[in-house]
This record gives sequence, structure tokens and C-alpha cells, in this order.
Amino acid sequence: MDLAAAQGVLKTTFGYDDFRPGQRAVLTHVFAGDNTLAIMPTGGGKSLCYQIPALLFDGITVVVSPLISLMKDQVDALNDGGVPATYINSSLDWPAIQDRLAALHRGDYKLLYVAPERLESTAFLQALGQLPVDLLAVDEAHCISQWGHDFRPSYLALSTVIQQLPTHPQVLALTATATEQVATDICQQLGIAADNEVNTGFERNNLNLTVVKNQDTDRYVLDYLHVNADADGIIYASTRKEVDRLTALLSKRKIKVAKYHAGLTDEVRRQNQEDFLYDRVQVMVATNAFGMGIDKSNVRFVIHAQVPGTLEAYYQEAGRAGRDGLPSEAILLYRAQDLQIQHFFIDQSEMDEVHKQRAYQKLQVMSQYANTQGCLQQFILAYFGEQSQPCGRCSNCQDDREAQDVTTDTQKVLSCVIRLRSRYGKGIVAQVLTGAKNKRILDQQLDQLPTYGIMKNQRQKSVGELIDFLTATGYLQSVGGQYPTLQVTQLGIRVLKGEQTVYRKMARQAQRLTPEDD
Ligand code: ADP
Ligand code: ZN
Repeated sequence: MDLAAAQGVLKTTFGYDDFRPGQRAVLTHVFAGDNTLAIMPTGGGKSLCYQIPALLFDGITVVVSPLISLMKDQVDALNDGGVPATYINSSLDWPAIQDRLAALHRGDYKLLYVAPERLESTAFLQALGQLPVDLLAVDEAHCISQWGHDFRPSYLALSTVIQQLPTHPQVLALTATATEQVATDICQQLGIAADNEVNTGFERNNLNLTVVKNQDTDRYVLDYLHVNADADGIIYASTRKEVDRLTALLSKRKIKVAKYHAGLTDEVRRQNQEDFLYDRVQVMVATNAFGMGIDKSNVRFVIHAQVPGTLEAYYQEAGRAGRDGLPSEAILLYRAQDLQIQHFFIDQSEMDEVHKQRAYQKLQVMSQYANTQGCLQQFILAYFGEQSQPCGRCSNCQDDREAQDVTTDTQKVLSCVIRLRSRYGKGIVAQVLTGAKNKRILDQQLDQLPTYGIMKNQRQKSVGELIDFLTATGYLQSVGGQYPTLQVTQLGIRVLKGEQTVYRKMARQAQRLTPEDD
């Protein structure tokens, strides 16, 4: 098998002249017979990386994909393009499944899409064992890792499946979102050697990242849609209730809008999704239930009205803007209190304690993202283990406010944290610094500390924001899960010793106020 043959299929079957970055490299590995991991951004063209081999290999390519609701559409689209493909998932009864298996036996199909849950059925695995499977494509491969943000237990069955299939198929894992830890995990579980990883990088240079803090959501969204009246986009919110509310708000203003969340019937969801895909509505307001696998190329903006739980989820959702490569916007509307919603989700979840702690830590990264004054793109890439230069496009790179020297205030905050022996979180630290007189402070005699009230001319809220800033910039770190406590880092120690100055861009309004009790 060679790339020339692949190039031929690319042109004749899919109608494209050239490979996208990464596709060629992935195909080279696959044709060399390697188990391969492909990390490519959303919209990067992962599907062709297994569809082309599927057409060129003798046997059948099995595609494991969690996108059950889209399987039929994906398969229909392939069939329309002359690619013989079928799917097996829970929407089919056993006789229908047997029909499809029989057709697969006859060699009627080159591609078989299956839901991961199928792999847990012994009957199905036995049937699969009878087929000449030569490639196993694992889509959304990050779902296999408990370190990822979308762990699906049924993916764990994959490693057993690979060992048990008599044809010992080659594996191609694909994902748009994998930290180094997740990538290592995928490779370990699926038997992929480290040098068979193709990573085209996470940078999306047509995506403009923006963080907007403490704004009125409704006003912001309405103003935005007023200015961008001919742009299609998605607005994400954390709860069904907020999705319902925003949808009502927009339709009242005569904006063409559809909504999507798990509380709607399958039929309504499908209808709304299609309205958005086929440009019958301008805006989709949705929870995170919407979007995986949706191939709408002209999404110009993704606004998060509330902060999501992890940076991986954020970047994946934001990345649904601009799949066509044209300039697009990803805007996060951030309010610290929205973190509480995600906190609540973690509290209520059925995860064990270890996983909960991990989830709290991931949430803290989101708060750091919202509070950093460095390049937002750089922040995200660094999180995924990639070094980069400032992007020049994001709201922080574009922020031309003058940076102010806040070394003295920083020293006050850091010494207070040390006085409190790193046992308290942001709230108490800010209260002590501003000299609050509530019961908890008095009961614990925190008003006796030498740092008590040393910032009493500032509001508790703005001291809290300074603490967020110092955490995001690495002078402080927030440790522990549900009730995180603050610690001074090595970098912070340097500030205390006077070896390091701290600069911060500040809102243009006056920061200092007359003394007041918060
Ligand atoms: P993802 O990586 O998110 O799975 P897809 O495989 O759905 O991305 O591809 C995104 C879009 O890019 C699809 O519309 C696909 O047809 C298109 N595409 C993929 N490869 C190429 C290529 N080599 N040239 C042009 N368009 C391509
Ligand atoms: Zn930037």
C-alpha cells in the first residue's frame, strides 16, 4: 500500500486534491503496519485517516465511535459518496444486526461503525471474530483514559478486544484532545509505540480566543449578536435551565435560535441539530451534550456563557468554530461564581474520591485560564504540552492597558498566606487582609495576626481578584479539591525576598476606595 494509491482515493472518492497537515504522516504509519495515534485538531480531517485505508485494505475496518446519534448520518453520507459502510449500535434489533453481519461476511461493506458498548457483548465479539477485520479505528480515543475529560468505561474493553480478535487488527486511535498523560494512556492501552504518534499540534490559528470577565451575560450576548447578525454560532451554558432561559431571551429578540440539551426528546434534538446544520437557524444554545462529531464548517463563534469544567472540554467546544479555516471567535464569559456550578456537578457525581480531586484540579485550571494575563493560546498549548509564542490575536495579546507594579500588594497577600500557614483558601485570606470582622475570623482569632487588615483600604472582592491573578500567574498555588487552600510557590518566595517584581494590567477605573466593611 502506498501514498500514491491513497492520493488517488482522496481525489476520486472524496474529491480533494491534497492532504491536510498530518493526514499524510498518519497514512504513512498506517501503511507501514504500525499501530498509530493521531492527534489532530477538531476539523483537521481525522476521518479520512481511516476511511482511505479502509478502502485500500483487503478486509474490513471497524470504527469505534461514541457518537451513536450521528452514526446513521455519517454512514448515509459515506454511502452517498460511494463508500460501502454500515453501522451496528443499540438502535438496531438482533435480527437487523444479523442481517448486517451476514452482509459483512459477503464482503458488501468495507467499513463498520460500532458503538463502544457493543464491545462488551460476547455474542457480538464472537461474530466480529468471524470477520476479516484488518483495521480497528478508535475515534475520540481520549475516552479510554481516566485522565481525560470524557472517560467512557466501555472503552476499556478495547484492549481485550484487540487481543482476542483472531485477525489481530492494526489499531489507529484518533483524538483532538489529549494531554501528554492522556496520550501515554491511550498508547499503553492500545499497544501503540511512542514513536507512532502523529501530533499536528493543537494550535488553531484562525481561532481568536477571548475572555470577558464579570459582564452581564444577556447584554453581552445580545450586543454580540446585534453586531454579528449574519454569523452562525453556538452558545454553551452549563445547565438545561440556563439553555432554556437564553433560548427564550434570544427568540424574544427575533433571533433565529434552536436549543439542545439532554432534557429534550431525541426527535426534538435531531430536528434542532438539523436546523442548525442546514443554516435554518443562526444560533444554537446548548449544554455540552451538543457538538461532538458535528461537522458544520461555517460556525463563526462559540460563546461560553458559563465556564465549563475542564480546559480540554473548553478547547474542544470552542474548536467547533472555524472548521472551514476562516477567522472565528471563541469567547468565554467568566464569573467566579459560575465555578460553583461545576463544583456542584463534581460534588454530585458518582466519581470516587480520587477522581473527584482530579476533577477539582481541572476546574482550577479553568479559573487560571480565565485569570491569566498571558497569551490565551499559549496557555492552552502549554497545557497540552506544546511550547509556543504569544499568538498576537487573543484578548490578552490585544490588551494594551499599561501594566502596573503590584509588588507591594503581592507581598502583603503572600505574607498573609504564610501567616495563615497555608491552611486557608482565597475567601479567608481576602477577609483577613481587608480586616473583616465576621464570626469565623473572630472565633479563630485571625484578627490577631500581624497581616490582619493590612489591605483594609481595598474591597474584599478586588483582593480576591488579585489572589486569582497571583494564582494564575504562579505566585500562589491552590491545593486540594473541594476546599482548596493557598500556598506560596518558589516564585512567590522570590517576590517576598524582593528578588522579583510583579506587574499587572488593571481595569481603568480607580481601584482604591475609601475604607469599608465587606
Ligand atoms: P475531524 O478531525 O474533526 O474528525 P473531519 O474528518 O470530520 O474532521 O474533517 C473535517 C472536514 O474537513 C470534513 O468536511 C472533511 O471532508 C474535510 N477534509 C478532510 N480532509 C480534507 C482534505 N485533505 N482536503 C480538504 N478537505 C478535507
Ligand atoms: Zn495571544
